[in-house]
Order: sequence, then structure tokens, then C-alpha cells
Amino acid sequence: MSRALITGASRGIGAAIAKALARAGHHVIVNFRSQPAEAERLCESIASEGGTATPVGFDVRDRTAVHAALEALLQDPEPIEVLVNNAGYTRDNAFPSIPFADWDAVTRTTLDGFYNVTQPLVMPMVRRRYGRIINISSISGVTGNRGQTHYAAAKAGLIAATKSLSKELGKRRITVNAVVPGLIDTDMLKGAPLDEIMKQIPLGRLGQAEEVADLVAFLASAKAAYITGQAIGINGGLA
Ligand code: NAP
Repeated sequence: MSRALITGASRGIGAAIAKALARAGHHVIVNFRSQPAEAERLCESIASEGGTATPVGFDVRDRTAVHAALEALLQDPEPIEVLVNNAGYTRDNAFPSIPFADWDAVTRTTLDGFYNVTQPLVMPMVRRRYGRIINISSISGVTGNRGQTHYAAAKAGLIAATKSLSKELGKRRITVNAVVPGLIDTDMLKGAPLDEIMKQIPLGRLGQAEEVADLVAFLASAKAAYITGQAIGINGGLA
């Protein structure tokens, strides 16, 4: 049975992706950082729907911890065919007020997280001549956003990494794409001025995590074999 690893899957978009990929027939590896109970509950919920899932804890910024976890996962002969780099972190602030620690935490979650988790999984995909890598970017990385200089820079970098890696891996039948959500109804939007933002969304509503998950599930499927190097927006027409 093929396996799919989703980072930051204890809640929000990552949890919806885990459910969608389990429904698509993958054994799902649910990465969590700080909420093991949430990850356990998600795995139980996947099992109650007939799927299979395992929680695995690591902070994507912590290279040593990531490598230890992946080394253990790679002992299993079942291939990890799908990787979704979903873990993300915001600390919105006007640029002059961004502390070093927040700059580091935000950019490292997205960019070091991508490198730390993806690199050990690429060679096994290359050897099998098959893989699906999906990176969750953000509309902020395309249009920019006030208060998100660090987050937008990292998410734009993730799109560039996606495009570069897709060029390296295409000949091995490994696709690499970015999904670029607009405003999705999760904890990440807590405290955002939603009434103002809503006026700018042509479809007049927030997106749902399940809608992002359905797009990811398609990109993760064999049917999406001719899509690579793309940054695909899902934003209600916002950009
Ligand atoms: P969320 O509800 O805040 O969930 C974020 C998830 O990432 C949580 O499970 C969190 O774990 C995990 N995480 C954060 N830092 C991590 C780390 N260092 N290592 C491992 N896991 C980590 O956010 P979301 O809305 O589901 O966001 C999912 C992805 O979509 C993110 O990449 C985000 O940037 C992107 N996105 C979201 C929106 C939106 O409107 N919601 C829009 C565009 C893009 P903990 O529970 O331990 O914190």
C-alpha cells in the first residue's frame, strides 16, 4: 500500500488533506508538532472511515528530529509516494516590528521545513521512478500582504523551489506542484479582519479546508501525471 506523508496535519488544511488521501487509498502518515492528541484523534477518525493512518511527531524545522523520524519511516518497504509539505506558521507584524525570532520561525517552517522533509524522501522516489510532491504555498507569496513580509517571502520561495525541483525530477516521473490557497477557514485566520477581506473575494466567502484537500488529492493521484512545476491557485477569485 502506498503511503502519503502530510506535515502539520494535526488540524486545519493538513487534517483535511490526510482524510482525503486516506479516502484515495493511501496509508496516511499524520505529522504533528505540538498536538499528539489531535493527531491521534484524526487517525482514529480515518480508521473509522475504513482508512489507515499513523501519527508521527516532529518539528519540520528540526533537521535532526526530521531525519530520525524519516529514517525510521523509510525502514518500511511500502513506498512513500506522496509528500505534502503543509506545515505553516504566521506571526503577522509590520516589518519594522518583526523580531528576529519571528522572522526565523516563519521562514524556517516553510523553507527549512521543505528542505528537511523533502530531501530524504526524494532519492527513494527517484529509485522507484514515481512520486508526488505537493507544497502548500499561499496567495501572500504571489501578491504580497501587509504584515506578512516574512511569510510572503517564504511562501514565494516555496513556489520557486517547487518549479526548480520539478525540472530536476520530471524525467523520473515525479511531479512537484504548489497549491496556493487564498483565505481558508481555519485557525490561521483567527483575528483577521474578515469582513473587509470578504468584500474583495469575488465568490464572497472563505474557502474550506476540504476544498483545498480535494485539489491536493487530485494532484497526488496518478491522473495528474502531466501536471508539474505549477502553482495552482484556490482562492475564490481573489487573485
Ligand atoms: P493551521 O490551522 O494554523 O495549522 C497549521 C498546522 O501546521 C498545524 O497542524 C501546526 O501544528 C503545523 N505546524 C506549524 N509549524 C510546524 C512545524 N514547525 N512543524 C510541524 N508542524 C507545524 O493552518 P492551516 O490554515 O491549516 O494552514 C495549512 C497550510 O496552508 C500552511 O502552510 C499555511 O501557510 C497554508 N495557507 C493557509 C491559508 C489559510 O487561509 N488558512 C491560506 C494560505 C495558505 P501545531 O498544531 O503544533 O501548531
